[in-house]
Amino acid sequence: MSQFDVTVIGSGPGGYVAAIRAAQLGFKTAIIEKYSTLGGTCLNVGCIPSKALLDSSEHFENAKHNFENHGIIINEPKADIARMIARKNEVVEQTTKGINFLMDKNKITVFEGLGSFESATQIKVTKNDGSSETVESKYTIIATGSKPSSLPFITLDKERVITSTEALNLKEIPKHLVVIGGGVIGLELGSVYLRLGSQVTVVEFMDKIIPTMDGALSKELTKVLKKQGMKFMLSTAVSAVERNGDSVKITAKDKKGEEVTVEGDYCLVSVGRRPFTDGLALEKAGVELDERGRIKTNDHLQTNVANIYAIGDVIKGAMLAHKAEEEGVFVAETLAGQKPHINYNLIPGVVYTWPEVAGVGKTEEQLKEEGIAYKIGTFPMRALGRSRASGDVDGLVKIIADEKTDEVLGFHMIGARAADLVAEGVIAMEFRASAEDIARSSHAHPTYAEAIKEAALDATGKRALHM
Ligand SMILES: Cc1cc2nc3c(=O)[nH]c(=O)nc-3n(C[C@H](O)[C@H](O)[C@H](O)COP(=O)(O)OP(=O)(O)OC[C@H]3O[C@@H](n4cnc5c(N)ncnc54)[C@H](O)[C@@H]3O)c2cc1C
Repeated sequence: MSQFDVTVIGSGPGGYVAAIRAAQLGFKTAIIEKYSTLGGTCLNVGCIPSKALLDSSEHFENAKHNFENHGIIINEPKADIARMIARKNEVVEQTTKGINFLMDKNKITVFEGLGSFESATQIKVTKNDGSSETVESKYTIIATGSKPSSLPFITLDKERVITSTEALNLKEIPKHLVVIGGGVIGLELGSVYLRLGSQVTVVEFMDKIIPTMDGALSKELTKVLKKQGMKFMLSTAVSAVERNGDSVKITAKDKKGEEVTVEGDYCLVSVGRRPFTDGLALEKAGVELDERGRIKTNDHLQTNVANIYAIGDVIKGAMLAHKAEEEGVFVAETLAGQKPHINYNLIPGVVYTWPEVAGVGKTEEQLKEEGIAYKIGTFPMRALGRSRASGDVDGLVKIIADEKTDEVLGFHMIGARAADLVAEGVIAMEFRASAEDIARSSHAHPTYAEAIKEAALDATGKRALHM
């Protein structure tokens, strides 16, 4: 029986990063993955393929609608969905192969097969052909991630009534894509097909989209996506989804309680994801779940069984790749006797629509609820020279600072490259910067980042310069 110091089950961003850090710290490390490619949801059917399609569709959108304004005249562009999907697959292949390279480089033993506990220290790996072997491990890190969830009355046939996984592999551009759920995944994949020419209708139970982000971002994103042609049915509770040949009928109740229907040729169900623990045989190790089916962990990400830890989407907290990665490093360093720390308040959230949306720290709604006195500075992207040069004028930056101390409490942005620029907010808050600190830091001109400085100037005495 092979023996290891640390065995990781699941090779998503949580698992493979935990394995690398454990190996760096001198542990004899193994990783078990049931699929033939490493990288988990994020690399295979999540972050990376969705961004590949978002980029391709954005090029198409620009060629169709924006090139002419820049003085570039081309023939009517056509979208070749088969090529777009093939390119996306190439990107995924390169990226997942990169993980194999990292496993080799760090001398991590990779087992392909389903990992299931035999006991708290023994894990059976069952391959596709039914053969199995058992590994013994001092510590185990469970990083088995999540799967798309659905509603009890919906049958996901994965042809017309689909999840994000199928939406990343469609063979045709839908005529009318109905998206159930106005969260990140629904809006990103909805944007892909909207740009490629589909009619897209988003049906959302809440009265706003991206409900966990700052209200100003939700409002602005709704406005911009409506301008792009996306339709919204808010405060609408879906009660039935029926497939009839090539069409799908969605029945729902609107906020007045009246029945409404919408019909499309595809229905993307993006109502969230559920933690995935099927097949792990947790009972054999004695590992407990919480009331929502997540693996229960304490502040050290340790389960109720002392030598077993859990990270990423399979435990509480935001289902985000970078949160899973932080937790992977955290556990490896904890096992090595270090005292790592994760500031969960400073895990940024991003939506890769265009314009991009990003936020970190407290939203205005949270501060109100917590009774913390705050001040706000905002700056519209359209007032920037950089935005006018590129034509990306939609959006704003909103900085929230403590009323008395001026410490930055929240950073929220919708605008060009917000996904990258949110890092300035994270760093500022990690170092407990004040709005004045940001306002007095030089920001290169002309850049989109100048909107951050201007919003900070606005937060500290309403002294924005270009407004
Ligand atoms: C369409 C889409 C877009 C997304 N975009 C983003 C984004 O832009 N940014 C972002 O931060 N997040 C994004 N996410 C979320 C992100 O993918 C997840 O938060 C992240 O992958 C979680 O990482 P993880 O390591 O916890 O689990 P996962 O990535 O889910 O990996 C778990 C792995 O464990 C394996 N496994 C499960 N059970 C077993 C077992 N018993 N034995 C062996 N192997 C097993 C699975 O096969 C899988 O490979 C997106 C998700 C989707 C679906």
